[in-house]
Amino acid sequence: MSLIVQKFGGSSVADADCIRRVAGIIADTFRAGNEVIVVLSAQGDTTDELLDKAAELNPRASKRELDMLMSTGEQVSISLMAMCLKGMGVPAVSLTGWQIGMHTNSDYGSARIERVTGERIKKELGQGRVVLVAGFQGINPSGDITTLGRGGSDTSAVAIAAAMHADKCQIFTDVDGVYTADPRKVPGARKLNEITYEEMQELASLGAQVLHNRSVELAKKYDVRLEVLSSFKNTPGTLVKEVTKNMEHLEITGIAKDTETVLFAIIGLKDEPGKAFKVFRLLANAKVNVDIILQSIGRSESKDISFTVPKSDMDKTLAVLEENRDSLGYEQIDVDANVAKVSTVGVGMVSTPGVAARMFEALSDAKININMISTSEIKISVLVAADQADRAMNVIHEKFFGK
Ligand code: ASP
Ligand code: MG
Repeated sequence: MSLIVQKFGGSSVADADCIRRVAGIIADTFRAGNEVIVVLSAQGDTTDELLDKAAELNPRASKRELDMLMSTGEQVSISLMAMCLKGMGVPAVSLTGWQIGMHTNSDYGSARIERVTGERIKKELGQGRVVLVAGFQGINPSGDITTLGRGGSDTSAVAIAAAMHADKCQIFTDVDGVYTADPRKVPGARKLNEITYEEMQELASLGAQVLHNRSVELAKKYDVRLEVLSSFKNTPGTLVKEVTKNMEHLEITGIAKDTETVLFAIIGLKDEPGKAFKVFRLLANAKVNVDIILQSIGRSESKDISFTVPKSDMDKTLAVLEENRDSLGYEQIDVDANVAKVSTVGVGMVSTPGVAARMFEALSDAKININMISTSEIKISVLVAADQADRAMNVIHEKFFGK
């Protein structure tokens, strides 16, 4: 007998037919003699719809109330699933975040999990029930409901798998695994049998939307066997693990794009020590998340500093720079929101020279201009015009994976 955690995303439980299909998967797992914990997301676009309702009444609603509201979506899913399973003769019980002891900090809207007690889960499993848990939600030290950030149900599932020492954590979604690139954007994309935690974490934070990046971080930390698979097709998925065989000796494992980025350029800063420090200290104090940074070589006593930030930090960044115009002493600020970051990721890069050159060659042949470059051990990112991003992914993909 194994203990299995299964997570189903919003599209997998969108309506009654979807719920019935998923209930079938859960019932099969349970009837095969396993203990099953199921984590669900809110149905379809429920979370967005709830946020729209809030905005209609108060566009500046407090984060506490927003969490109270958003957490209801997942409760609808778990109760409906419990009813459906029981109708099929499978004993089941639905539980909220606080009922299972999902303790988080008080950062409403992006709460961090502190611990999962899981006593109630143990008790219910002991009584032979399938346990359905509301994803995305927890409870803070003051006893209020928190949410883990958009897409956070993956993280709930992995945290529960870690706390309960589950044998595996299966993330069911509407694609049948992790691909070398988004198959909707890159028709030649291939499914991967395996990917390392490290690669998956990079891809998730660089814009690939398969998994919440914190879920991968947790899986790595607690050595959770993670599998991404389809709730619509019965085929093997992708295993996310510490080391992969890399049988094909792939130089890169995946390509991702992030369009939620904005390019700032501070033009005509005085070329003297301490300028970069001042700019980035101010931004850090405002909690702006700066990504790629580029400083031009000084010319006639002035220099330019460019950097990217997430679109959600755009207004804040502009305000900070404008408020400090006098003390920073620059000529002008340029803002370009029509950019995208395209990245390649792969542990194979470490041992293969020339990966960056091949990537840039693909872009050069396609006459796609690179605005900025940044690299780490296992990733190379370039900033390109937003309307070129899909083509960039395709030409890079073709370069490394063929037609
Ligand atoms: N329902 C939440 C969201 O849409 C959490 C999740 O789907 O994982 O962000
Ligand atoms: Mg969702």
